[in-house]
Amino acid sequence: MASITKNVIDITKVKTSKIESIDFNNLAFGQVFSDHMLTCDYKDGKWHMPKIEPFAPISLIPSAKIFHYGQSIFEGMKAYKDCDDNVFLFRPMENIKRMNISAKRLSIPELPEDYFQDGLNALLNLEKDWIPTSEGSSLYIRPFIFASGEGFRATPADEYKFIIACAPSGSYFAGEVKVLIEEKYSRSANGGVGYAKAGGNYAGQFYPTQLAKDKGYQQVIWTDDTSHEYIEEAGAMNIFARINDTLITAPVSDRILDGITRKSIIDIAKAEGINTEVRKVKVSELIEASKNGSLKELFGAGTAAVISPIAGFGFRGEDFDLPEIENPFATRLKKRIVDIQTNKADDPFGWRVKV
Ligand SMILES: *Cc1c(COP(=O)(O)O)cnc(C)c1O
Repeated sequence: MASITKNVIDITKVKTSKIESIDFNNLAFGQVFSDHMLTCDYKDGKWHMPKIEPFAPISLIPSAKIFHYGQSIFEGMKAYKDCDDNVFLFRPMENIKRMNISAKRLSIPELPEDYFQDGLNALLNLEKDWIPTSEGSSLYIRPFIFASGEGFRATPADEYKFIIACAPSGSYFAGEVKVLIEEKYSRSANGGVGYAKAGGNYAGQFYPTQLAKDKGYQQVIWTDDTSHEYIEEAGAMNIFARINDTLITAPVSDRILDGITRKSIIDIAKAEGINTEVRKVKVSELIEASKNGSLKELFGAGTAAVISPIAGFGFRGEDFDLPEIENPFATRLKKRIVDIQTNKADDPFGWRVKV
């Protein structure tokens, strides 16, 4: 793609890097941030040229609409570095396109794709040393847009800010995850914003998730908002079930986020000859399969953890444990995807993009 931004992104560097103070051998997930960030402003009816500046607090007026009406969207992606210091992204165009799908739904003006793409590349060139290389680690990238324009009238803002911040991160290890199938609260609804990566979708999840935690579970499995009969997502991850040797995941919809990890897993599983079905999954089907021993695995899928195996689930006061099995799909598929992401394996799908 011809680039209009490549050589014109203004860069203000930090006076002294804080990289020496970071313990790269003990990185948590998303807790420390790199030296610089990309910022880009929408005002006077258009997106202005992105800039790179030191990662630092920003100032907002209390009447900024983000605080009142929640116009806020984000993305999550990762950069990896191989042993030859090459930097890679995984399917970045999918994030760029999805950001604008979210923007449209939240009445946020769409961002020119090359502002995102060239801006991210410029930022990564500058922050290359911040990309950790130990097993399971990566530079977690958080692009986001929010309404910075002011006013108490409940209408879309006239000014927005797009920022990309980076966090060198260790592996996102959730431990042994027990989940509760939720029948009262919903993450999203028909006609709602569940398919968008809107900040408010997360705010609405925290309370029901806390109720589940109080009962001894770590996460919630969301069911459809109308009948609560079908499983939809596991926390903020897409969900997969393995019944006998068939891998099953729900079709994306208004309510289910179109995860990049999810669609990559579907393609890899098919290429590996695993029987894969994209169809609705009833809670009763899971219970039945658990009782007759055909439910072999359940796992969540998303950029942060890639694949997060589920050890058991609760439903109406009863607990169902997943069996310990040899060579789970979860481990095999995670290895395939991570090897592609980190340039340890061929990439027949063309997903890995060199920066
Ligand atoms: C981000 C997200 C996912 C995972 O999407 P990836 O593109 O795989 O990271 C799944 N569900 C929800 C609700 C999400 O917000």
